[in-house]
Amino acid sequence: MKETKQGQIHVQTENIFPIIKKFLYSDHEIFLRELVSNAVDACQKLKTLSVAGDFKGSLDALRVDIHLDKENKTITISDNGIGMTADEVEKYLNQVAFSGAREFLEKYKGISDSSSIIGHFGLGFYSAFMVSKQVEVVTRSYIENSEPVRWTCDGSPEYTLQTDTKELRGTDIILHIAEDSEEFLDEARLKSILEKYGKFLPIEVFFKDEKINNITPAWIKKPVDLTDEDYKKFYHELYPMVFEEPLFHIHLNVDYPFNLTGILYFPKIKTGLDIQRHKIQLYSNQVFITDSVEGIVPEFLMLLHGVIDSPDIPLNVSRSYLQSDGNVKKISSHISKKVADKLHDMFKHDRTDFEKKWDDIKIFIEYGTLADEKFTERSQQFSLFKNTDGKYFTLEEYKNHIEAVQTNKENKKVILYTHNIDEHYTYLQTAKERGYDVLVMDTPFTSHYIMKLEQMHTDFQFVRIDADSMDKLIDKGIASISKLNEEQKKEMMTVFEKCAAKEKFTLQWEDLSETDPPVLVTQSEFMRRMNEMNAIGNPTMGGAMPEFYGLALNTNHPLITKIMLETDAQKQEQMAKQAIDLALLGRNLLRGEQLAGFIKRSIAMID
Ligand code: ADP
Repeated sequence: MKETKQGQIHVQTENIFPIIKKFLYSDHEIFLRELVSNAVDACQKLKTLSVAGDFKGSLDALRVDIHLDKENKTITISDNGIGMTADEVEKYLNQVAFSGAREFLEKYKGISDSSSIIGHFGLGFYSAFMVSKQVEVVTRSYIENSEPVRWTCDGSPEYTLQTDTKELRGTDIILHIAEDSEEFLDEARLKSILEKYGKFLPIEVFFKDEKINNITPAWIKKPVDLTDEDYKKFYHELYPMVFEEPLFHIHLNVDYPFNLTGILYFPKIKTGLDIQRHKIQLYSNQVFITDSVEGIVPEFLMLLHGVIDSPDIPLNVSRSYLQSDGNVKKISSHISKKVADKLHDMFKHDRTDFEKKWDDIKIFIEYGTLADEKFTERSQQFSLFKNTDGKYFTLEEYKNHIEAVQTNKENKKVILYTHNIDEHYTYLQTAKERGYDVLVMDTPFTSHYIMKLEQMHTDFQFVRIDADSMDKLIDKGIASISKLNEEQKKEMMTVFEKCAAKEKFTLQWEDLSETDPPVLVTQSEFMRRMNEMNAIGNPTMGGAMPEFYGLALNTNHPLITKIMLETDAQKQEQMAKQAIDLALLGRNLLRGEQLAGFIKRSIAMID
């Protein structure tokens, strides 16, 4: 081919430019990912040819270079890969790509969602036109004595193809950046995009002679070749801004029925549901795709860190499509299974160590037990429960531990729990005095979680230690006695009722022991759970119910007797108020005007 050739690309649309610009990707920076991926592919193909014996040259110096020329407003992506002959340029860049474009347009006519689709349809190269007013491809095939060519196109269906003088094998893609895309001529911006998408590409990539990638990231290696240190090092490579160490990792490696590799890390979750800044990253053949992995990773594991690499995940497709994709569903359930298997392994092999990690991972396991039926089954084998003495039990172990000691009137086993040892100090003392065991259940999912457990095992019931007076929660089989007769109770009740708002408190006499408090604040297990479940969202339930408490007046407490014996009516009421307010204060329920009133009254009493 000696002279310049001109041709027409056969498409129905006059100009592919506006379509690519507006329609294909909302995220223009992706042009770089596409072109660098093509350059990497071109190098990889040379390796394949070499293995097949069709390429005899050296593979040592395979590389991709990105050059920025601010003055001429160009970005060049160069590789020394396979290159293209003139015929191949015609075939790959003109026909295939443009027909792909037409196919795409026909298929997706009228769909306005712009989040989509390039690489999937072989349009990757054409993403260059999202940011360029003109694109030149200068290329020379690896085939000996092949003629280098230069293809030039401004996005209209006209292109020119001419001979070139390029001496070395490979391809340069020269982008003449359009006015509205000059942001990409900023060196820092360009570098950050390269680092985002190309950090783990399998061929060395250089920007201004600085290498930007690690070509052998840990996830592509075999677990046997990696130490714990290697995994930690890789974690910090993935998240340079995180200084905490991960708790442990899971190395994923599947080749049937889909391909998937990756490493997931369990991080330490500090504040309940941490804001998710360091997300799982999704790669396809070491090209970064996204860190929105909804649908691919089970929801309850979204707070994990790490990478997943799968060429089988449809990449540039919309979220709703992703969720209905069979492969994607399989991947999600596979990840869930692998995580459960790993946790079970850890539990079996080193229970002490597993127990040490438990407090940090229980939130995932509770969430998983709620969200994923299969995981629920699996998690039963390694789910732990910690009591207030810091001992860990499986549910079965725990049931034996409290055997016969903790039952209610219906002879059901009662599992006592607290969400906060400090807040429940008095209640906990009461339980301990009676020899009962108490669990610590303190995640945001506690109410949902124990509800689920109660559905699965009907032989026991969970109750928080402030749900009622202890002897009502657990039946000791001993009838209690009261120091007050019915007449006295009735008379005193009218005094106490004046001291607590009816809308918020129900008062009741109870025959507690002398050592129990004079007034005990309780909160119905059912109501509290409903409100807690509402608080973290449960679409099946209506709005929150009003906060409601029980006040148990202890018939056997000396203070109650003293209040009863007081003859001055005004004084009597003051004392009753004080007794109730002290109980509320102990539960942090005394606020505002009521608290001020209490303080004033207390001062007057000291006076
Ligand atoms: P895809 O990569 O999905 O096949 P592209 O539009 O990105 O679609 O590229 C079309 C074809 O052009 C590629 O399959 C490849 O054969 C060729 N090609 C693109 N870039 C290069 C390159 N840097 N070196 C060699 N061939 C390339």
